[in-house]
Amino acid sequence: MKYERSFNFSAGPAMMPEKVLEEIRDEMMNYHGSGMCVMEMSHRSKVFIDIYEQAVADLKKLMNIPDNYKVLFIQGGGTLQFSMVAMNLMKNGKAVYVETGSWAKKAIAEAKKVGEVIIGATSKDDNFSYIPDCSDMDIPEDADYVYICENETINGTTFHKLPNTKGHILVSDQSSMFLSRPCNVADYGLIWGGVQKNVGPAGMAVVIIREDLIREDIDPNMPIYMMYKTHAAADSMYNTPNCWAIYCCGKVFKYLLDLGGLEKMAEMNEHKAKILYDFLDSSKMFKTVVRPEDRSVMNVTFRTESDELDKAVVKASEAAGFDNLKGHKSVGGLRASIYNAMPEEGVVALVDFLKKFEAEHK
Ligand SMILES: *Cc1c(COP(=O)(O)O)cnc(C)c1O
Repeated sequence: MKYERSFNFSAGPAMMPEKVLEEIRDEMMNYHGSGMCVMEMSHRSKVFIDIYEQAVADLKKLMNIPDNYKVLFIQGGGTLQFSMVAMNLMKNGKAVYVETGSWAKKAIAEAKKVGEVIIGATSKDDNFSYIPDCSDMDIPEDADYVYICENETINGTTFHKLPNTKGHILVSDQSSMFLSRPCNVADYGLIWGGVQKNVGPAGMAVVIIREDLIREDIDPNMPIYMMYKTHAAADSMYNTPNCWAIYCCGKVFKYLLDLGGLEKMAEMNEHKAKILYDFLDSSKMFKTVVRPEDRSVMNVTFRTESDELDKAVVKASEAAGFDNLKGHKSVGGLRASIYNAMPEEGVVALVDFLKKFEAEHK
């Protein structure tokens, strides 16, 4: 291998495209003749504003974002958005949440601090191993929005079809699937994603919000950083933004455009996931837990018959040069996160390893 890099199956922070890392390396000491690293630049300088504007323009192109949506870069990672969404969008103090797993539950817990949460559908009865039917939920007329976690990173499920919101605003946490497949932005009022899962370095979220949802009539006592209008009015530069993350994300947006856009990316991702799921379906030792039609293309969860054997798999995988195959501590088992930047050869190598492990432990 060129750099002796491992196949890193981490759920996040996760792999970035090698080409992007190389570009960042080449620009490290002197970005485009500025005599500075991007880390050293004023966020008010022309050279940085250009980086920011290009990143926004490229994301808009990549996702085909309509003109009445605003792209915001906000610090606080994914977690701050659990609070911001509820604090800004709960006008009537009521929202419907779909409970699909660990990350939906965290969002629900924060929203409950702000207003009334109605669980429109849940898959709690079977350990969040499937996406509940959301075609005919009970949605009060005055509910402010319907919230989903579109890909549950820990449980390994994904919405392959959006819920029927009956005309209400759809809010989606896309953190662990952001830019993994095409998405019709107009179907949503707000899309957000922590970027360290599928795009760039940790510590920032991208928020795509329909302009009419950026409220001016918000409680003036709310901390100013928590208001979307603060970030929207200042083009994400109310305070010093996470310049480094914006720069790295911009590189990934450009990389995806050059690759052929999100259709192409989705095709590659589905192909990678199929290689792994096909093996798991044929294996006697490894079992998937998620209902097949709700399987995530990004986070593949599986397990053996025992915790001891799961541990042995992890140990052997590390010796073989694979990292982070252990399932999340809250659910156990095994998990391979195969985001955009995981090359197909990494998935093929993982399958070869698992096959060999199975043959040796019959
Ligand atoms: C990781 C993750 C988050 C939280 O992101 P942080 O940046 O760690 O706060 C939220 N939602 C989903 C779906 C995630 O995978």
